[in-house]
Amino acid sequence: MECIFCNIVEGKSEAEVIFEDDNLIAFLDIQPINYGHTLVVTKKHYDNFLTVPSEELTHIINATQFIAGAIKRSVNADGFNVITNNGNSAGQTVYHFHFHIIPRFNADFNFKPRFKNYSTGGMKEYADNIRTIVSKYKDIYNG
Ligand code: AMP
Ligand code: ZN
Repeated sequence: MECIFCNIVEGKSEAEVIFEDDNLIAFLDIQPINYGHTLVVTKKHYDNFLTVPSEELTHIINATQFIAGAIKRSVNADGFNVITNNGNSAGQTVYHFHFHIIPRFNADFNFKPRFKNYSTGGMKEYADNIRTIVSKYKDIYNG
């Protein structure tokens, strides 16, 4: 299947590349939330965060830390987000794994964020359910 990020990795599509090594490439997002918004993309095609091999993930997180520092300094940002959208419901539109680095400025969050409130006992129930799954699958954790 045609993948825009594979095309960029292979040099078939253009991008404003700001960093590259054997495993990853980082380039500017064409529809930035703020100027300097960058995508850090694995050179190999993985559909999402859950399918990136552990060693490669460690490498890309280290690179993302380095690149985020450079972007923050370059655009004089007050802060930044590092995020990865996974699945249509989470806003993923390109199904090739990437981190977003989004420079942020103090004025960006001058609105009231919408949070949910847990019902009484609800917080423990959610935690219990997640703990059950974590414990069931702990053998795949590579930390
Ligand atoms: P996501 O929605 O998390 O999958 O993020 C995909 C991002 O890729 C979006 O923010 C798009 O603006 C960006 N994008 C799509 N095509 C390109 C492209 N050719 N060059 C740079 N960024 C792109
Ligand atoms: Zn791809």
